[in-house]
Formats: sequence, structure tokens, C-alpha cells
Amino acid sequence: MIGVSLLGATGSIGRNTLDVISQHPDRYQVIALTAHKNIARLREQCQRYRPQIAVLADDSANAQQLAQQLKKTAPETTVLTGADGLRTAATHPEADQVMAAIVGAAGLAPTLAAVAAGKRVLLANKESLVMAGDLFMQAVHRNQATVLPIDSEHNAIFQCLPNPIAAELTSQNVRKITLTASGGPFLHRPAKTFSSITPEEACAHPKWQMGKKISVDSASLMNKGLEVIEAHYLFQASTNQIEVVIHPQSIVHSLVTYTDGSVLAQLSNPDMRTPIAHALAWPQRHTAGVPSLDLPALSQLEFIAPDHTKFPCLSLAYAAIATAGNAPAVLNAANEVAVSHFLQRQLPFIAIPQIIEACLTQLAGPAVANLDDLLETDQCTRQYAMQHMRNLAYQ
Ligand code: NAD
Ligand code: MG
Repeated sequence: MIGVSLLGATGSIGRNTLDVISQHPDRYQVIALTAHKNIARLREQCQRYRPQIAVLADDSANAQQLAQQLKKTAPETTVLTGADGLRTAATHPEADQVMAAIVGAAGLAPTLAAVAAGKRVLLANKESLVMAGDLFMQAVHRNQATVLPIDSEHNAIFQCLPNPIAAELTSQNVRKITLTASGGPFLHRPAKTFSSITPEEACAHPKWQMGKKISVDSASLMNKGLEVIEAHYLFQASTNQIEVVIHPQSIVHSLVTYTDGSVLAQLSNPDMRTPIAHALAWPQRHTAGVPSLDLPALSQLEFIAPDHTKFPCLSLAYAAIATAGNAPAVLNAANEVAVSHFLQRQLPFIAIPQIIEACLTQLAGPAVANLDDLLETDQCTRQYAMQHMRNLAYQ
């Protein structure tokens, strides 16, 4: 049996992972499940999957309540809380694989703990790699951890590269990698109407059912920007080796162009269970519960160049890689603050890139040397972003 810890079990990726695991009960054993606050869903998951550990990251009276509820129905499950609980889940000796599916910077410490423990890390939490970049990848190599990308685009590239983990792109005769983007809900919406965009409109993604933060990121194209940075670190790719193309059908998940002109792509229905099953089973394969593509039914596949003027977040991400140093961490923190305020109706959608740009201009500097300094950069950026929003009278 392969032991799996799921960080962020109650979210969209967490639930899709449990769906795939349920299809292979003789292969996987759930070791730990973690959630932020959703005690009802975590309780149901514990009763069904009987993990050794359940973690409520937001430690409060809720954890005691959960422990009480599980006493009879899942007596083998110990309830833990907070950062220590997450670390225990991420490093549990019986966890062979750790699904890192917490959203945002909150996922950094437990994901890095799994890396430090030399685990096989299934990385959905792209923000942790964007923030920590070189520190993250150095820790992977130092601890002989394995990182398998869950993001559908990076998973596609991983599948199309001959040696995705060890070798840099040029040595594999790769000319470029192309990340596809659905374009989000505002692909065809005129930019002059962007000032009235609501959280509901931004979260109504045409192709994917996801958590709110990544849905807003997809609407602003910052999700693709974060993915460009993710690809930069994961595949040792320079900015001129990473191309973004809008592909509204979300069938071709990404492509690799070789020096001989060959282009390899991975295609599948837009269903996260495919990359999740790929990473769980790698280097083997097994079912994901996803139907085969019906090629004749796909009448048209479109590929369109992205509009950087309408979606400035994408250019900001490229600029953050070019600036290097702490810029990707600043970009990530500023984006998290701006998106959270947009979701609370305290910031217009069009102000998201303005806040990020202001933070980059003010705070981008040399690379940080360790996790403490990185967390300080994250905190300083959050404070500056809040201050900037107040100055612009958004709060
Ligand atoms: P989600 O909002 O649906 O779920 C987030 C999970 O993280 C939940 O289990 C929640 O309890 C937990 N969480 C939230 N805040 C936390 C905190 N402060 N401390 C501890 N746990 C916390 O998000 P999602 O859509 O599942 O996305 C998860 C990650 O996967 C994100 O980094 C996202 O970018 C990435 N991702 C998601 C998809 C997708 O299809 N949903 C695709 C690619 C990548
Ligand atoms: Mg993606």
C-alpha cells in the first residue's frame, strides 16, 4: 500500500484526489487529511478514509469538537491542530506521497517540510514554488525529494519531456515550452467594462471548477503568470523559453517544441483527476475516472496570442522573473492580498495589477537566503499592499 497525506483535503484538488484514491482502494492508504476550517467536510472524509491523523489548521475549539465526533466513528484518527499538526501530516513516516493542495502562501511551510523529509511531493500549491523558487528547488535536490506537478499545464509538460526532473531544457534539445490558458471568463469581455467585474463573475470559470482564489487568478491571467514562474523553476526554463497561448477549449494542456521542429502535446478532457492520477501512479499509469477524448466531437481547437494590455498580470509575472531576487515572492504576496480584498468587494478587479505593480516597484530586491527572510518579505509585502490600498482610498 502507498501511504498518502493530503494537505488541503477539503478543497477542489483535495476532493479530486480522494476521488482518484477511492478508485484504487487496494493501492492507496490515506495517512493524513488536513483542512483549514471546514470541520463538517473533514469529519465526513475521516469517517470514510480513516486516516491516522486529521488536522484542523485553524486551531480553535473546532478541533476538540472534531475529536469528540470522531471518537466513535473513526477512533483510529488523532486530531491535531495548527502549524505543528500540518508539519506532522506532511512528514509522517508512513506517508510515501504528499499531496500539497493548500491554497496560497499558507501551503509553503508544510510543503517545504514534506520536501525536507525527502517525500514524493505532488505539487498543486504553485504559490509555494513561486514564493520560494530557488530555495524550494535547492531543498528538493538536497533532500532527494521528488516533485511531480499537479497543475495540468506542468503535468502535461512533464509528460512531454524525456527527462523532466534532472536535465535542463537545452540539454534535452527543447526549443520552448508552451503553456496553454483557457483565457478565463473575460476573454471576450471588453476591457472598458472591467471596472464593474464582480467576484461572482470572476469565479464563474468556463471550463474548470476550482477554489475561489485560483478562479480569480484565472480571470486576471495571474494564474498563468504564476504558472510561468512555476515552469521557470520546475523545468529550469528561461523566460524566452516559456510561451503562453490562449486555448479556450482546454483540451491541449501544454506543449513542448524540440529543436528538430517536433511539437509534443498532452491532450485530455479538462478534469484535474487526469494529472492527479498521473502523478499518483507515476511512473506507471492507472484509471482516473475520466472519459476518453471524443476527437470528432471537438470541431475546433483555437490558439490565440494573449492580450497583455487587457491582462497586465501576465506581463508582471514575466517582469518578476526578469527582476529575479525576491520579486516573485513580492508578486505572490501582493496578489494574494489584492485577490482577497477583491473577493470581499473591497477592491475593484482592475486594481489587482495596480497593487501588484506598486509592491514590485517599492519592494523588489535581492534574493533571500532562508525561509525566515522569505516569510519577512511576504509579511512586508502584505503590509505595503494594505497601505497602498488605503492610500488609493480602497479601504
Ligand atoms: P480550494 O480553495 O478549493 O482548497 C484549498 C484547501 O486549502 C482547502 O482544503 C482549505 O481548507 C485549505 N486551506 C485554505 N487556507 C488554509 C490555511 N490558511 N491553512 C491551511 N489550510 C488552508 O483551492 P483549490 O482550488 O483546491 O487549490 C489548491 C491549490 O491547488 C492552489 O494552490 C491552486 O493554485 C492549485 N491548483 C488548483 C487547481 C484546481 O483545479 N482547483 C488546478 C491547478 C492548481
Ligand atoms: Mg494550471
